[in-house]
Amino acid sequence: MPRPELLLPAGNLEKLKMALLYGADACYIGAKEYSLRAQASNFTLNDIDEAVKFAHDLKKKVYITVNVIPREKEIMGILPYLKKLEALNVDGIIVSSPVILYIAKRYTNLHISVSTQTSITNSNAVNFYNKMGMDRVVLARELSIEELKTIKKNTNCELEVFIHGGMCSAYSGRCTLSNYMSNRDANRGGCAHSCRWNYDLYKDDIKINGDIPFQIASKDLEAIEYIKDLYEIGIDSLKIEGRMKSLHYVASLAYTYNKLLNDIEKGKIEDISVYEKLLEASENRMNASGFFSGKNDSSINLYSKVGLEANQSFLGIVLEYNKDTKEALIEVRNHFEKGENVEVMSPNKELFSIQISDIYKNGEVVNVARHALEQVTIKCEKELLPNDILRRL
Ligand code: SF4
Repeated sequence: MPRPELLLPAGNLEKLKMALLYGADACYIGAKEYSLRAQASNFTLNDIDEAVKFAHDLKKKVYITVNVIPREKEIMGILPYLKKLEALNVDGIIVSSPVILYIAKRYTNLHISVSTQTSITNSNAVNFYNKMGMDRVVLARELSIEELKTIKKNTNCELEVFIHGGMCSAYSGRCTLSNYMSNRDANRGGCAHSCRWNYDLYKDDIKINGDIPFQIASKDLEAIEYIKDLYEIGIDSLKIEGRMKSLHYVASLAYTYNKLLNDIEKGKIEDISVYEKLLEASENRMNASGFFSGKNDSSINLYSKVGLEANQSFLGIVLEYNKDTKEALIEVRNHFEKGENVEVMSPNKELFSIQISDIYKNGEVVNVARHALEQVTIKCEKELLPNDILRRL
């Protein structure tokens, strides 16, 4: 069975580069135009050009989300925009609106993925889009492994499945809670995550949640234990959600899922807890395995379980390493001090730890790195590489 593509989100160029370096086979990004997550996206056409060149140099891919639900005044601009993307040699677009699907198919040669916003839950719907000329369908998150097997058996269309990240309390995005509560449109990238706010619950005018706030949200998806099944079923692309997430999140997820896919390929899969532990360093929300088991009970919901803890483990990124002086220049992300033992995550290497020695700033010993984005130098006998991540566990 061919190895599935590992598809990561990227909210900016830096995250895209780190995702690809740390093991993603492809990234999906939104542009300023026609992307649902307008707030999560700051890719100009120049950025897309750079992203595509960077990815192609590594023999990897970049898909562009063009999944806005367009209004009348936006229709005329769609074809010129798609032509610009085609000229930039992007590897595909992700679309939900029938008018954009039609224009892209009729007037371009772009690879077209049908967005999860279309809530496709069966092979008839997959084959409908495939017959219309669409290359790939991003299936609804609300499917079990058994349903995915059946769909795969009944179609030749490429299939993409979400394996990690936020879940909606509605069928992916088909929700107006955010519009109602905060006047922010979830279907135009403005979701305020109102389902995760704290509410009081009443029955017959009597408050029944006591002092514990009530939420409508579900736990985030983490499908580590189902990746082998998805691989064996022959799912073409495994997708991670979260274009608003941090660089550390993107790198850690790419690193962990890439390691798991490598291990499956080699037939040497470790205990699932090993991969779960790797993910814990970058996560700050409660997880569940979504709908894959077929049991859709309260265990995948948050209700009154907040589970939010600030994650301070991301300490810095290596910018340069001088082999002669054995000094590493670090861009700081969180406070760390001389004497601390920290873990180093490096693309395609096992994790290892180092002890922080003297810390210098502008040539003077400071022995503490306090401020995000300041640059400090540490002595390190072990060779570090640009883009290595230092983190505290
Ligand atoms: S408010 Fe919650 S359920 Fe509604 S679109 Fe946003 S994440 Fe989904």
